[in-house]
Amino acid sequence: MAKIFYEQDANWDFIRNKTVAIIGYGSQGHAHALNLKDSGIKVIVGLYEGSKSTERAKQDGLTVLPVAQAVAFADITMILIPDERQGKVFAEEIAPNLKEGSALAFAHGFTIQFNQVVPPTNVDVFMVAPKGPGHLVRRLFTEGGGVPCLLAVHQDYTGNAADIAMAYTKGIGGARAGVILTTFKEETETDLFGEQTVLCGGCTELVKAGFDTLVAAGYQPEVAYFECLHELKLIVDLMYEGGMANMRYSVSDTAEYGDYSVGKRIITDETRQEMKKVLKEIQAGVFARNWIMENQANRASFLATRRQEAEHPIEKVGQELRDMMSWLKKK
Ligand code: NDP
Ligand code: MG
Ligand code: MG
Repeated sequence: MAKIFYEQDANWDFIRNKTVAIIGYGSQGHAHALNLKDSGIKVIVGLYEGSKSTERAKQDGLTVLPVAQAVAFADITMILIPDERQGKVFAEEIAPNLKEGSALAFAHGFTIQFNQVVPPTNVDVFMVAPKGPGHLVRRLFTEGGGVPCLLAVHQDYTGNAADIAMAYTKGIGGARAGVILTTFKEETETDLFGEQTVLCGGCTELVKAGFDTLVAAGYQPEVAYFECLHELKLIVDLMYEGGMANMRYSVSDTAEYGDYSVGKRIITDETRQEMKKVLKEIQAGVFARNWIMENQANRASFLATRRQEAEHPIEKVGQELRDMMSWLKKK
């Protein structure tokens, strides 16, 4: 059984008088910075010269400094810039300014697990990874709640790394919801596996395959869109709220019988074998190496694929249909 901690397990003394540098002010950065500030912690935001985020952080009442200076002041440096940029920023601006005995923190284990960031031995290294997007981390905090977090310690120089990390989760509201103890390895590998096989890769391919099959058979794209994409949210909401049984309780018995009799013909033994291969590649660092090299090549293949994917017919029909859905906010 996983170890789960809550607010009463956090000792505020481990963070009370500390200065936290939040590097980056995007999805996670703004949420961590504002939640900690509202919890009474001294926060400095570290950004590069000319960053689009600077104005927003200042408007939110925060002190903004160049990354190097923010780190020099910090007892805890939380790195919340995109994973593929962390290696360079760490080497050039963070590492030379890290105080001995301070803490280096992450919201995802990728750069540590795959050696893009190699911290000095004289600092604590921990991870506090909220299991939700930054805007939810901020909104739930202001409503008195929080998003559950994963917590891991990679390096314990002071002997207090876990206590500091736990106090940090309390500061951003995560301990109100629950904090699960994990490792950098487990968090990184499961996160990559989940997004590749189930959440993003698996899900989008499943939706497109269903849509393409119906359209090729002569059904209207609008109807295919509703069946294969739009309704997915309703099904996922039911599973999120009460597991698969809750979803199966809500759909018709006909749908439930179809679920049992056809699902395994779609996700076959071959699919499960392939999932094992994908997991092995993640564990062996093959995916990480490819993604790092792709970034070094200016994302040639990544951006080309993004353009191609945007041209799939489901995107066009979806755009038209969503324009008619008054309840969807325009983005
Ligand atoms: P975002 O892309 O939302 O934010 C990036 C921020 O970093 C922006 O403020 C950007 O500034 C700034 N930035 C970019 N380059 C630099 C630089 N060289 N120096 C200083 N600041 C820079 O990132 P996320 O919040 O999505 O991700 C941050 C971390 O959190 C990652 O490790 C990610 O894996 C993790 N995470 C993210 C989750 C999410 O929901 N998004 C969930 C859980 C973990 P500018 O505005 O100028 O571009
Ligand atoms: Mg991820
Ligand atoms: Mg139906």
